[in-house]
Amino acid sequence: MTTDWQAGRLNSELSGAGFDTLAVRAGQHRSFESEHSEAIFTTSSYVFRNAAQAAATFAGDLDGNVYSRYTNPTVRTFEERLAALEGAEKCVATASGMSAILATVMSLCSQGDQILVSRSIFGATVSLFDKYCARFGIEITYVQIDDLAAWEAACTDKTKLLFIESPSNPLAELADIRALSRIAHAADALLMVDNCFCTPVLQKPLALGADIVIHSATKYIDGQGRCLGGAVLGRADVMKEVVGFLRTAGPTMSPFNAWVFLKGLETLRIRMNAHCQSAHTLAQWLEQQPQVKKVYYAGLPSHPQHALAQQQQSGFGAVVSFEVEGGQAAAWRFIDATQMISITANLGDTKTTITHPASTTHGRLAAAEREKAGIHDGLIRVAVGLEEVNDIQADLQRGLDAV
Ligand SMILES: *Cc1c(COP(=O)(O)O)cnc(C)c1O
Repeated sequence: MTTDWQAGRLNSELSGAGFDTLAVRAGQHRSFESEHSEAIFTTSSYVFRNAAQAAATFAGDLDGNVYSRYTNPTVRTFEERLAALEGAEKCVATASGMSAILATVMSLCSQGDQILVSRSIFGATVSLFDKYCARFGIEITYVQIDDLAAWEAACTDKTKLLFIESPSNPLAELADIRALSRIAHAADALLMVDNCFCTPVLQKPLALGADIVIHSATKYIDGQGRCLGGAVLGRADVMKEVVGFLRTAGPTMSPFNAWVFLKGLETLRIRMNAHCQSAHTLAQWLEQQPQVKKVYYAGLPSHPQHALAQQQQSGFGAVVSFEVEGGQAAAWRFIDATQMISITANLGDTKTTITHPASTTHGRLAAAEREKAGIHDGLIRVAVGLEEVNDIQADLQRGLDAV
């Protein structure tokens, strides 16, 4: 399957390699066809030379592929490459970001356990926790993301996981990952970080003390809005359980999607840097506009956690939220006046997107809950894409003129 000189050549020269080199080359195993780019292996199962080899492979005594719900060469290349970028011992790819979270919870938590969750996280994650995990007897407790004393006070002997998204969506609130990992470990719990907004280009939670990283590869890792996928990363002992659940339950990644994400990883850093640069420029410009009450972006000195963002991230991300004067009516006029930007809740795309969180991503929350979470009716979220920054600004100016 793999000739040794090729595999050795592909991997041995990467020890000590930099991020961009790993992004382009880590995890590649050439087949006997000597392909230069990564091949897509669309096969559900694999053949054995004889019955004894089949038995030994099934028993785990021999390395080798058995069935694509377990392992697939294209998916494995994606897993090894992302693991190299996040600095993880082990990565397993999933069918979506949501199945990455599901697999982690199902494999590490049991009835009676508790998960502490930062408030203001992705809407489907809230539904997964409140509607489904709770039904199976897992207690979910929400904690204010930046209140370390509240996290400490919320830990009990039932606490298994602390789950955070940092920076949060849509208000760009940060969790102090180093401090939270100490709190988690003191409580004999694991810290799990949804690193979707930053990607390993901007933030490496495992190096800051977190135990598990999950991704929605659907966002920046693909970066071009084509495929759904996800990943779970961490230490080998923790990941053993997660891999076991995925192989049994089956929400694994398709080889085609893995190939798309592999290609996405190759350009991740240059894309993220361009996203961040435009987002920063636009955040600074928006803060100067009289129609804008407040801008939520950790790259601005006005952000209360600007210093923490500088410490634990190497860039500030590309999601810029801001509040306009005049509530929902004004926010909707703003959004409707844009002509180029896509009105959609997706993010992490080359195409800039705009959304009104209060009536879309956070529409399921009661008005009072939304206000308490700081998601006011005049709030607009822009996920800055890779168009010319002047063109994005001109389109946002149309919105401002309509407010
Ligand atoms: C989109 C998203 C998810 C879910 O990922 P899917 O790939 O859509 O299942 C989880 N977390 C965050 C922060 C997201 O933006």
